[in-house]
Amino acid sequence: MRIDIMTLFPDMCKRVLDESIIGRAQKSGKVEIKVTDIRDFAGNKHNKVDDMPYGGGMGMVMAADPIYNCYKSLCDENELKPHLIYMSPKGKTLTQSRVVELSKLERIVILCGHYEGVDQRVIDEIVDEEISIGDFVLTGGELPALTLADAVCRMLPGVLSDESCFMEESHFSGLLEYPQYTRPAVWMGKSVPDVLLSGNHAQIAKWRRKQALLETKCRREDMFSFLTLSDEDKKLLDE
Ligand code: SAM
Repeated sequence: MRIDIMTLFPDMCKRVLDESIIGRAQKSGKVEIKVTDIRDFAGNKHNKVDDMPYGGGMGMVMAADPIYNCYKSLCDENELKPHLIYMSPKGKTLTQSRVVELSKLERIVILCGHYEGVDQRVIDEIVDEEISIGDFVLTGGELPALTLADAVCRMLPGVLSDESCFMEESHFSGLLEYPQYTRPAVWMGKSVPDVLLSGNHAQIAKWRRKQALLETKCRREDMFSFLTLSDEDKKLLDE
């Protein structure tokens, strides 16, 4: 998969993406991520990419031309048709199921807004989808874009050591994850549940399933109400 990020703050994105699991995924060729500075497409001698909003008001608006020219140049680099996502607090809130769908595309381009946002006409012209990372407003689209890129990359084959890494995680199958523990077996007088030390994998799996059901029921009634519980699940919850 190829991911392009269009931003006015490329260093901010590169620093994060070159670290840890996503950095290793890039080095091993599991994903290609390119960060492009929209300012390189300003097309004027002062490299100006924003202007005052028509109608008045505070702040600046990112102009259409630099974004459009940046996008066209990325399209020309590669024949894969990109799916262009604008990170926006007005977009549909990101979910794990949308992340999984996006991870199946061959190429996505992510546009980061800044200041008061982006001229609506370029959004209407080139954007395929607007995605929000939650009902709050950040100063720019860089953190949302990094959030999306990270979430998508970890779904790509081979990025995590095993598919079970994410299949049992919160939100993948509509459940929250069971509690996790590591050494020491007793910490501050608190012991790890006995079953996890038993070596009995069937019992461990049963315990984890029950804990995941309980976590979801207690913390997220909204998610729990969408679950289709098996007879085994019902039995676990009654125990
Ligand atoms: N004036 C805009 C509004 O009220 O909807 C907010 C602009 S915000 C200060 C600047 C940029 O940050 C946006 O263009 C967007 O790219 C990004 N952004 C801010 N909050 C976001 C969120 N919750 N999800 C995704 N992107 C966000």
